[in-house]
Amino acid sequence: MIRFCPIASGSSGNCVYVSAGGTHILIDAGLSGRSIETALGALKLTGRQLSALLITHEHSDHIIGVGVMSRRYELPVYATPKTWRYFERHGVLGTIPPDLIRRIEPERPFNIGCLDAVAFDIPHDASQPVGYSIFAENRKITVATDIGEPTDTIRRYITDSDIVLLESNHDADMLRNGRYPKVLKERIAGARGHLSNAAAAKLLTESATDKLRYIFLGHLSEENNRPLIALNTVENILYERGILPREGLKVFIAERYGLSEPVEM
Ligand SMILES: [Zn+2]
Ligand SMILES: [Zn+2]
Repeated sequence: MIRFCPIASGSSGNCVYVSAGGTHILIDAGLSGRSIETALGALKLTGRQLSALLITHEHSDHIIGVGVMSRRYELPVYATPKTWRYFERHGVLGTIPPDLIRRIEPERPFNIGCLDAVAFDIPHDASQPVGYSIFAENRKITVATDIGEPTDTIRRYITDSDIVLLESNHDADMLRNGRYPKVLKERIAGARGHLSNAAAAKLLTESATDKLRYIFLGHLSEENNRPLIALNTVENILYERGILPREGLKVFIAERYGLSEPVEM
């Protein structure tokens, strides 16, 4: 059985739980160690049962708990070479024992217990940011947030996924008319910033296949989005393109703080 649960999603912290066949991992650990342990407790787990931390990029909302969790539970930390270079230069993880450092190349699959994983490039203003696809039991789970713009690579990895957590960061009008300074608006809307609701929907229409069962919209902006606006925008576009309604396909909002509804399949 595959189990998937976003533990938090947004600029105040990102962490996603994935498990299959007794192997448990987290993608990003952007919450305090204590918050992550509390969330694991709600899933009837402890940190001791984890096998790995997979990191997408170095922004603090993705890594704040990485050092603590890795040291406390001797968890290997997987990240791309340039992300590791950033970690080492800036000391943001504290000291990670060398035997827990895993440098991974995008597009090169690796294995963690019962899970196979592969990282893929995403456009974002970080050193070497990636999304991940996880494979187990003939299922595919893809996590892609912090995306400036859709790419063929992202489309390729979403294709044939059973579960997708995709960024749906902002409503383009709310961002344009909002109170953020011009330079920040441009950064968010830019090619290495964050994905709008409509762009997320379009990306899904271009890459979703009949296998897709669960869509989680994540990393919603607190300032420039609302859960209902994201959900309505994306669902309307999926209806327009004939992807919805489909029995067995559900769209959720990944909770900003705290666990989303876990899905099992
Ligand atoms: Zn982020
Ligand atoms: Zn980021």
